[in-house]
Amino acid sequence: MEIKEKQVHELIETRDDFVVLLNTEGVIVHSNQNWMNYCRKHQLPSALWKVGGNYLNCLKAMRKFNELQCIDEVLNGRTKQEVHLSLFYNKEATDYMSVKYRQFPLNTDTKGIILYKYLLTNLPLANSLNTETVLESMTDAFYLLDNQMRFYFLNSESEKILQRKKEDLIGRNIWACFPKTIGTEFYSNYNRAMQERVPLQFEEYYAPLNSWFSVKVYPVADSGLAVYYQKIRKEDEVKATLSEIPTNDFLTGWNTRKTFIEKAEQFLQEEIPFSLLYMNLDNFKYINTLYNHQTGDEVIKNIAKNVDKLLHSQDVAGRLDGDELILLHVHQGEEQSENFREKIREIFTTPIVLKNSDPVTVTASIGVSSYPHDSYSVEELITFAEAAMRTAKKQTGSSFSFFDSGMGTALTRRLVIEKSLTENLQELGFHFALQPQINCETGDLTGIEVLARWNHPTLGPISPVEFINIAEETGTISHLTNCLLEEVFSFINKKEQRFEKFPKTAINVTSSLLTSRKFFEELFLKMEKYQIAPEQIELELTESVELTSSEITLANLMVCRSKGISIAMDDFGTGFSMLSYLVNYPIDKIKLDKSFIGKIGHDAKSEAVLKSLIQFVKGIDCELLAEGVETEEESLFLQENGCPIHQGYLHDKPLSPEEFELKYLKGCHYQQREWNSYQENTHSV
Ligand code: C2E
Ligand code: CA
Ligand code: CA
Repeated sequence: MEIKEKQVHELIETRDDFVVLLNTEGVIVHSNQNWMNYCRKHQLPSALWKVGGNYLNCLKAMRKFNELQCIDEVLNGRTKQEVHLSLFYNKEATDYMSVKYRQFPLNTDTKGIILYKYLLTNLPLANSLNTETVLESMTDAFYLLDNQMRFYFLNSESEKILQRKKEDLIGRNIWACFPKTIGTEFYSNYNRAMQERVPLQFEEYYAPLNSWFSVKVYPVADSGLAVYYQKIRKEDEVKATLSEIPTNDFLTGWNTRKTFIEKAEQFLQEEIPFSLLYMNLDNFKYINTLYNHQTGDEVIKNIAKNVDKLLHSQDVAGRLDGDELILLHVHQGEEQSENFREKIREIFTTPIVLKNSDPVTVTASIGVSSYPHDSYSVEELITFAEAAMRTAKKQTGSSFSFFDSGMGTALTRRLVIEKSLTENLQELGFHFALQPQINCETGDLTGIEVLARWNHPTLGPISPVEFINIAEETGTISHLTNCLLEEVFSFINKKEQRFEKFPKTAINVTSSLLTSRKFFEELFLKMEKYQIAPEQIELELTESVELTSSEITLANLMVCRSKGISIAMDDFGTGFSMLSYLVNYPIDKIKLDKSFIGKIGHDAKSEAVLKSLIQFVKGIDCELLAEGVETEEESLFLQENGCPIHQGYLHDKPLSPEEFELKYLKGCHYQQREWNSYQENTHSV
């Protein structure tokens, strides 16, 4: 396979990270504009970025031995891919980069190496850390995960505790590295912290290391998570397993969640009106990171002391989780309540002076719900105040937000969907649609994609984007996918008995399922049950499969492949590292994302990229399909450039199984007359 220079150049330039392509001697063949700009800005040697420069020699001169070793491993074919955390010192600060090294075919016989550098300094946390030593010197074990749950930093204490080398973990997804954590508190809490951007604290047992851990997780501004953890010592271990839970928080002396709820319930019984203030400390994580945990504790204690001074005798204070505080404030008139909130706000705008005389200001996002106005249940009042807190979080600085029914509607909707996802989906209006894939040159139907649909009894039609995401987040995606497969396979089985042939059927598989051996075992059993030939099935993966690029995923996909099931890469061109999939995964088909197709006729640069992509995919012997083809113009452009298979509204919207049968199965070709009369009486899905 010969990859044309122009194509490579165009593919590299569309990326927003840094990319350098080296030949076997370590000489730069390409480097993208982003990388050149970065190097020039920081006055890095030209041999690191100029085409023709010897990158390897330059690294030797800079004594960057780790990086050299990675490159050597990949260039010499000992490994296909390496990931490494690299530091670039410049005058103002240190830039952290996660660098991926992968083989890259330069022509039929030679493999060069491509470097994808991803600047971690874009993360606010990394910005505030001046040197690696700050993190290294911390006594707690510590790691940072990026927004895809990949490790991008871990200190040596972490290496010791986890008994894993940095090199094995950096750049890899945490669930793939530690699959036994899936389904444990680690899994649910990290996912929650990531999605809801809330800090959490918990204790959990991890069987492979035979230890209990105490873990604190902090979201890092808009991106990843910072995780601090310790093994719990023997005596704590006993404590953690004891059913006796302390009634007071050891730092603040405030109530724990359990006692707070008990006390609040008494107010309900006595019908005493109150408001709940749910306070989340915004920048607390920085204090823990920049100083240490003792300082973090000192800050919390200080805040608690200041709040205590404002509380009336009846008021109740609690600490729910790490930096989540809650107050029950008894109503004593509107003016007094406003005063109280104003004073609380002052606490979060006045600097706290630490023992070492450093002043720090901790801002808080505060959500408020009130009894009896919002609800008659304490749990619900807390949930509502928390929802309001999330709205307050969207504003900068210390701010309040009051719960309103709009927030409740969104929250209730989500809870209804979450709950329904655990129930009998067929009974709740879950079904599927089929969208044809057409070869425009021959007019043939080449395949279909199964798309989930849900017409919920109380919520009405729900978009698959919404319910698939919730199912993925709450761990019900396998239940959903299994229900869908059951229906689809049973449909195929019936139709195959009636009409000889059924088109190849593509099923969407989310990334969490790819690491599940059980999901694949069930899939194979179902295929046997309904006598579905493996050649009949295609699995569509999204590019986010990178997240779980683990041996388990690869092994599962290889088993599918060996059985004859084919693999398609969905939404190609939108993910993080598109070229790398083709090296790492057994991909049979690529589905060009509709965002590319929509630019045909509007944007010359995108058209050029699309042409390159088409040629590139053809060059590596992959099938190709264009998604979201809506106009004749798009269709013609794609055909002229060698991509004749299309899926999109131009041909068909997703159809109900009945519509599909009528239009495509009867007589195995268009039954135009019958179809037209059917269409007059109904409309597509
Ligand atoms: P997707 O896999 O990329 O599916 C294609 C989406 O594009 C579908 O949206 C389809 O209706 C829409 N589409 C098809 N042709 C056109 C066109 O010409 N123009 C435009 N603008 N859109 C077109 P839908 O059905 O809303 O599904 C959205 C996403 O939800 C899917 O994107 C897929 O990621 C997810 N999804 C749907 N069903 C399932 C499922 O059964 N399992 C899983 N895991 N995900 C699913
Ligand atoms: Ca798809
Ligand atoms: Ca798609």
